Amino acid sequence: MPPIPKAELHLHIEGTLEPELAFALAARNSVELPYLSEAELRAAYSFSDLQSFLDLYYALMAVLRTEDDFADLADAYLARARAQGVRHAEIFFDPQAHTARGLEIGTVIEGLTRALDAAEERHGISTRLIMCFLRDESAESALATFEAARPYLDRIAAVGLDSAEVGNPPSKFREVYARAREAGLKCVAHAGEEGPPAYIWEALDLLGVDRVDHGVRCMEDDALVARLAAERTPLTLCPLSNVRLRVIDKLADHPLPAMLDAGLLVTVNSDDPAYFGGYADDNFTGVRDALGLDDETLRTLARNSFHASFLDEETRAKYLAEVDAH
Ligand SMILES: [Zn+2]
Repeated sequence: MPPIPKAELHLHIEGTLEPELAFALAARNSVELPYLSEAELRAAYSFSDLQSFLDLYYALMAVLRTEDDFADLADAYLARARAQGVRHAEIFFDPQAHTARGLEIGTVIEGLTRALDAAEERHGISTRLIMCFLRDESAESALATFEAARPYLDRIAAVGLDSAEVGNPPSKFREVYARAREAGLKCVAHAGEEGPPAYIWEALDLLGVDRVDHGVRCMEDDALVARLAAERTPLTLCPLSNVRLRVIDKLADHPLPAMLDAGLLVTVNSDDPAYFGGYADDNFTGVRDALGLDDETLRTLARNSFHASFLDEETRAKYLAEVDAH
């Protein structure tokens, strides 16, 4: 049976850079990689902690230089996503990771949107683009990034917040989120992955987020769970990522079933799939096998992904019908 139709809502495009493409782009741009072969680089993807992941992640970004590179990166992801049953993808990118290397923000956005604009025709996938701020950079840097992106806001559906969470609470980014909302953008933020439940409260109350990325640690706070359930605030869970980054010890320990039982609108996503061991459907089958989820629960997760998306109602209904027919 083909993979169940689903939306991918938590996906960092930079985290889809597979070793083959990294070497191809390095050759195209005459960038020297500190690895002799794709196999050696693939082995380096087996990092053991957050810092070694981040070191590799940022080092490899050096191969992304031109509009064509960003278009090729996004197109390669979309082809893989389609094979995994993804019908709609809301894709994060980190402009500061590129502007800090001397690239123009327009190069990044033009390249990505070229691939996204062609996605419907080439891969049968609808898309949205979400611009993330690096929370371990300053609030001023986030504001400057937002202003630099203003000419391109018609291509951007939402703003987000990612990178090292602890010590960088949502409250730091109040002003840039206010500007984004004023400009008519949706808002999401990583919160409650490594950071405490208080960061999820802040994301809701101070940033006005429409969706919480990760949010697993909400389970430590009953009042927060009650609120998220009552308001039907979506949480974009990333089970394989949680294991690789040691948020949980093993997939069988994932709180996903308890979160569903608590009435939370949870979705299953892949985060940085090239690094964390799997794309969207790999995460679905991973939780199915480790947690013994039945077909109806998997359909609920697939339906949730479309309910939690920023799709218009007509397209959402079309995809929900595909889930029902599966
Ligand atoms: Zn993430």
